Amino acid sequence: MKIYNTLTRRLEEFVPIEEGKVTMYVCGPTVYNLIHIGNARPMIVFDTFRRYMTYRGYEVSYVSNFTDVDDKIINAANEEGVSASEISERYIKECIKDMEGLNVMPATVHPQATQEIPSMIEMIKVLEEKGYAYRVSDGTVYYRTRRFKGYGKLSGKNIDELESGHRSEGHALKVTGAEGKEDDLDFVLWKPKKEGEPFWDSPWGEGRPGWHIECSCMSKRYLGDTIDIHAGGEDLIFPHHENEIAQSEAANGVPFAHYWMHNGFLNINNQKMSKSLGNFFTVRDIAARYDLQVLRFFMLSAQYRSPLNFSDELMESAKAGLDRIKNAVSNLSDIEKNGADGDVSEEEKNNLAEAARQRDRFNEVMDDDLNTADAVSVIFDLVRHANTTTKDGASKEYARQLKDEIVTLGSILGLILVSEEEVLDEDIERLIEERQQARKEKNFARADEIRDELLSKGIQLKDTREGVKWSRI
Ligand code: AMP
Ligand code: ZN
Repeated sequence: MKIYNTLTRRLEEFVPIEEGKVTMYVCGPTVYNLIHIGNARPMIVFDTFRRYMTYRGYEVSYVSNFTDVDDKIINAANEEGVSASEISERYIKECIKDMEGLNVMPATVHPQATQEIPSMIEMIKVLEEKGYAYRVSDGTVYYRTRRFKGYGKLSGKNIDELESGHRSEGHALKVTGAEGKEDDLDFVLWKPKKEGEPFWDSPWGEGRPGWHIECSCMSKRYLGDTIDIHAGGEDLIFPHHENEIAQSEAANGVPFAHYWMHNGFLNINNQKMSKSLGNFFTVRDIAARYDLQVLRFFMLSAQYRSPLNFSDELMESAKAGLDRIKNAVSNLSDIEKNGADGDVSEEEKNNLAEAARQRDRFNEVMDDDLNTADAVSVIFDLVRHANTTTKDGASKEYARQLKDEIVTLGSILGLILVSEEEVLDEDIERLIEERQQARKEKNFARADEIRDELLSKGIQLKDTREGVKWSRI
């Protein structure tokens, strides 16, 4: 697997820290509103990365946070006259609903900033002891940016050319001009309590954490000091990810993440999406017009690093494309029920070999920095292959195998190509049995692959003392 690493600005072969395992952290949304379709892009592309790596036999630990304490949340709470936690809890629930619609698998852990305050205080204490953090008169704790020698290595910025442009908090502090800030480049680790804001006790007084520290802490707590992959949208490269590196590496004394993956931005009709331009869509807006699978398919029709333009025409064409694939699968299902009994013919064997070659191509393009655009083309080629090789009839077994091939490739992209009723109990039982067999043979990669395939069909497995139980999710 080759990954474009923002840190080195090169395509690099992926070498995990521990063989067969991937530890991955993806910055999640700030929950002050329904998520917009731009937020859905990292969710979909990195979920696809996770599914693909799982299919290739890796055990993926995937952590994605909810930022649930932030100026925007506090503003929304004040506007509605409710508590900040009421806002964040509400929009976490709504976000999870959208993720379900987009068929984004739940993360291994979804930590929330407000639940992790003690570990943030711990890390700030370490930074203070090591001389990387200092408190000023109003109780703000800053990170001493120039002290960290690697500052700028991710974004390629030169420290002397940098301006302190730190999302909302940097701006707010410039305005208040707290006394004692040593350098414009220093960013906030802890900010003092303000009237009407949530706060926690700390060695520096009551207050709340700055934004960047949460990801450094959650990544450490759930995945370790050094992880394989850290990911998010490209707007996070600077300052968020640059600051995360400065915090984590100064505190832990080891590299933070080996690979940094960033998705390109989603634009609307070639313009930046923004409320003021009136071209702002939530995932919920799209769900009112389309099955969210169409949005997922649309997002995957581009490579994740390219900018992606959203328009009605492009969504319509994504819908038509997805329908074409679903129709082919449904034709194969019909043949599976009504086609010829008996073995596959010689010609069908050759046709299946051709389908297997397409799967190899699928793997090849996915191995090339997750080129889902080409992976989608491979699925279209398979669909054409299915349509031409079955137009004069085919055997049940041929249809079953070809359908499996298309449905499996679709499920690696997180596309559900068979309706729930079609995922028959007997199919599930067959896969569970195959998984048990694979485990007996210590073929854990295959066992995990089956578990994942079932999950992508909405079937969850539970290993119990009485054996494997399954349920629809
Ligand atoms: P935020 O809630 O703004 O921190 O964003 C959550 C995630 O969505 C981050 O990974 C952002 O980089 C990403 N994101 C926000 N807007 C867009 C967009 N228009 N296109 C792609 N990704 C985006
Ligand atoms: Zn983050």
